[in-house]
Amino acid sequence: MTPYRVAVVGSGPAGVYATEALIRSGVDVSVDIYDRLPTPYGLVRYGVAPDHPRIKSIIVALRKVLERDQVRFLGDVHVGVDVTTEQLGQLYDAVVFATGASVGRRLSIPGEDLAGVCSATDFVAWYSGHPDHARAGESFPLQAESVVVIGAGNVALDVARLLVKSAEDLAGTDMPPHVLDRLARSGVRDVHLVCRRGPEHAKFTAKELRELLELDDVTTEIDADLLPAGSEDPLTAANLKAFADLAARESAPGRRTLHFHFWSRPVELLDAGGAVAAVRLEKTQDVGGTVVATGELTELKAGMVVRSVGYYSMQIGTLPFDEDLGRVPHDAGRVLYPDGRALDGHYVAGWVKRGPSGVVGTNRACAADTVVSILADLEGRPPRGAGPEEVDKVLAEHGIRPVTYDGWLSIDSEELSRGQGLGRARTKIPDWETLRRVAAADAEQPGRDTA
Ligand code: NAP
Repeated sequence: MTPYRVAVVGSGPAGVYATEALIRSGVDVSVDIYDRLPTPYGLVRYGVAPDHPRIKSIIVALRKVLERDQVRFLGDVHVGVDVTTEQLGQLYDAVVFATGASVGRRLSIPGEDLAGVCSATDFVAWYSGHPDHARAGESFPLQAESVVVIGAGNVALDVARLLVKSAEDLAGTDMPPHVLDRLARSGVRDVHLVCRRGPEHAKFTAKELRELLELDDVTTEIDADLLPAGSEDPLTAANLKAFADLAARESAPGRRTLHFHFWSRPVELLDAGGAVAAVRLEKTQDVGGTVVATGELTELKAGMVVRSVGYYSMQIGTLPFDEDLGRVPHDAGRVLYPDGRALDGHYVAGWVKRGPSGVVGTNRACAADTVVSILADLEGRPPRGAGPEEVDKVLAEHGIRPVTYDGWLSIDSEELSRGQGLGRARTKIPDWETLRRVAAADAEQPGRDTA
């Protein structure tokens, strides 16, 4: 009997974990994993901080899934643009969208569009060598002495840490050389993390906070008077302990200083000649468990502002989408129309399903939950999906010749050898043209017509 054919759109952790769960189910299934990029692994490659190699090493496990016989990687295919969601629905028994959340939320305050203001999404993508952001570095005013990062989550902490770290500390990462060079020449002296609630509410995690204790040449400034004595919640207690240790740390004036500002919400970004010059903050306080603004205003000098207040997803083609929540409405992973009916054969997993929360491993249970729904829906239905050759034919009719897994391996080995040439483990290729050229160097994969 022919296997069920499933398309997974997105090769980040959620997409790969969905694939793994499908294969492990024991049902005869083969999976085509699509990605808009010529490279797999999504946010593990382009979001996990470059100085967090331990988290990135999850790639070893994800790779094993991509190398299973029942799995094909089809990179450089933009589903919803190059091929419609309806076409995929016709070609496969089931389609799983695991496309993540790629847009940074806005603050909706005056001055947000001034030069020098950017989203963490863009900044992270740039330093991670994402090919859509190869030239973005020019727009980041890293000559600024004072940078304000707004938000109290791990992404804000990643951005702040990378801004205060020295070039030597970053030299061993996989950042492209032009990024390292820009960061090495940065004029940043003060990084201000602005948190609209208290230290007990911050969404940073203790492990990430404690990493700051290891940065010998960075001073951290925290008002110890704002730290509650403890918490019954173990995660909050661990954060408070980390903050207390950072506040008590005796350090000589560092090369750079990281300032934590709690109970402060941004109300306006102030302009000097079209570029941001300062952030106007309003003090907040807790009144009976609700955070309220006090009307007390202060200003923080800022030549660059990074907003890091969460992400939302983009609509994929014509797939139902909840604009307010910024994700796809679903029931146990089954995509729902606005009237609550399920869209047959269409599923979601990961951030596009549940919103931007949790760590990489959270996606495993999330994807497994979706796969339970897929298998229940397929039960008793004969396979009707198109075979790989037929899929390739349809894609070719649209001028698409995907980057195969072998094409990705060519990119991978080129990045490793470029890195070794510079005494580093890997150096990422940051631009589309080179990625496509290197992938096409694989004999079987001549590259897409439109490249
Ligand atoms: P997040 O954890 O949801 O944090 C968003 C922060 O933005 C919150 O502190 C929130 O404050 C604040 N915020 C929202 N709207 C705001 C506004 N208008 N003004 C001021 N502050 C505002 O999101 P994230 O940092 O983007 O991280 C996304 C997910 O990835 C999280 O699950 C995170 O743990 C994970 N991640 C993990 C790692 C790691 O494990 N090393 C690294 C990076 C990311 P309120 O709490 O007051 O709403």
